[in-house]
Amino acid sequence: MRKGTYVTDITHFLDETGNIPVSLPKPASRLASFFAIIIDETTRTASEVFNDIELTCAAEDCTGSILSRFESETDDIIWNCPDCGSNGVIRNW
Ligand SMILES: [Zn+2]
Repeated sequence: MRKGTYVTDITHFLDETGNIPVSLPKPASRLASFFAIIIDETTRTASEVFNDIELTCAAEDCTGSILSRFESETDDIIWNCPDCGSNGVIRNW
């Protein structure tokens, strides 16, 4: 993916069973997996402070480790890469 800010409605990546559809084009599928791991790791702890979830950034040429946290007021998941500055919000997970 490109470096930047991503506001993701995860339902756009999932089929009606809540899985990543096999028909999804490869780049989209990779991105869906990236977001799915962020969701898994963040909701496991539901921490409201940023944690390093040991997930390598998906931006091109970036090996940063993603930080994420849970926003209980909105139920959003907020993430960023300290290396390249990519960041985003994941909704409707
Ligand atoms: Zn990065």
